[in-house]
Amino acid sequence: MEMADTPLSAVRDRIAGACRIARREQADVTLIAVSKTQPADAIERLLADGQRHFGENRVQEAQAKWPDLRARHPDVTLHLVGQLQSNKAEEAVRLFDCIHSLDRPSLVTALARAFDRAGRQLPCFVQVNIGEEPQKGGCAIADLPSLLAEARTAAIPLAGLMCVPPEGIEPAPFFAFLDKLARDNGLEGRSMGMSGDFETAIMLAATHVRVGTALFGARR
Ligand SMILES: *Cc1c(COP(=O)(O)O)cnc(C)c1O
Repeated sequence: MEMADTPLSAVRDRIAGACRIARREQADVTLIAVSKTQPADAIERLLADGQRHFGENRVQEAQAKWPDLRARHPDVTLHLVGQLQSNKAEEAVRLFDCIHSLDRPSLVTALARAFDRAGRQLPCFVQVNIGEEPQKGGCAIADLPSLLAEARTAAIPLAGLMCVPPEGIEPAPFFAFLDKLARDNGLEGRSMGMSGDFETAIMLAATHVRVGTALFGARR
């Protein structure tokens, strides 16, 4: 048996183990390395080991780091996993390949316009405030059907649903609920699971896990 000798190979092994238990194909789970606050050299180490999906949570920070990295690695897929202000939508659409934080009607409008201007369409996950926490991003569970309808009317390509469950309590019920919401709404993707809980998320049908600390160490 091969030893896990880097954090990346350890995380890949854990994903493979969770997929085996869940009787799922590993190819159906995309590992997004969340590189927010991490310098380019730390990102280059993962690129050298074959990692190709990365996540950032701020447009400005990504704008500073990624044009150079992308020039060297044109096959990277860059995911926006943080809140998006409507006035940054066009910049985001030019820089990222996938948006995980569509959470309100005004952003549907802004993204539709940005797609037109940039001449490209990005798959979007609708973020759901699954724990109904007042301070958290994501659309209210009750507003999900109308937001999805507006996104469909605006021809936004819908990749699926995304959530960040409340901290400090068992995440499984929240992942199971997001899975049900995705199924009820005919959506394929489930962006859920972070360093502390990605195996649980995979058991509950995650298609995209967003892992930072377990790959890069603590954020600075
Ligand atoms: C930072 C972040 C992650 C990664 O968190 P870790 O606990 O470091 O794995 C995942 N998703 C979102 C939305 C984040 O902001």
